Amino acid sequence: MDGTEIPEELSRATLVVAMDGPSGTGKSSVSRKLAARLGARYLDTGAMYRVATLRVLRGGVDLDDPAAIAVAAKDLPLTIGTDPSHELIELDGEDVSGEIRGNAVTKAVSAVSAVPEVREQLVALQREIAASAGRVVVEGRDIGTVVLTDADAKIYLTASAEARAFRRNQQNIDEGRGDDYEAVLADVQRRDNLDSTRAVSPLRPAADAVLVDTSDLSREQVIDELYRVVAQEISAGGRR
Ligand code: C5P
Repeated sequence: MDGTEIPEELSRATLVVAMDGPSGTGKSSVSRKLAARLGARYLDTGAMYRVATLRVLRGGVDLDDPAAIAVAAKDLPLTIGTDPSHELIELDGEDVSGEIRGNAVTKAVSAVSAVPEVREQLVALQREIAASAGRVVVEGRDIGTVVLTDADAKIYLTASAEARAFRRNQQNIDEGRGDDYEAVLADVQRRDNLDSTRAVSPLRPAADAVLVDTSDLSREQVIDELYRVVAQEISAGGRR
């Protein structure tokens, strides 16, 4: 196969791939590429929590007040696209795809995503989007454990904290946001800790997820490995 042709077992009408793992594993970029290679849609659930966070910040809400966060994020006027080759993220019709990646949102997002009402609203929307997409790679923290527990393939991407911080710092340098490895490492560790210890939907691999460690793999190697795992899980699922 030359890599452009999709084998028969992967061309079924519904194909749901759950991609979970901590930040900095290269998860977004490889999930998007995997979706393109599978001819599937792509949903970035982290972006949804980031949009909710932007709304909360713009509302001047105290991040220590979960009830106020829940009110500010209620009926979120969010538009999110699922085309893996074109990012579309809007808050009330405004393109916020750049702003949601900034420091202010990144610092506040763990507090907002820990609020149960915020999660309920976004999880419901994620399920709707995945169902209407049919063939989709859904990326996040709790996709295999909570959002889409019957996904056809569940993958949990891991990498050492150092490897993840190195990559994120490199991304900051490339995108003109400065060079500060130590600060990035501290932020990676802080967010891992908050995300894995929160009461609602803590970050952890699903029991039936396949673990892929990306520390020593190039992006292309990771995509090849993911593609292989999806094919393997689909044929194993067919035999189950
Ligand atoms: O993936 P990304 O770094 O954009 O996610 C931002 C934040 O959104 C995470 O640190 C986490 O707090 C939250 N998140 C979540 N559940 C998801 C996706 C993201 O709680 N499914």
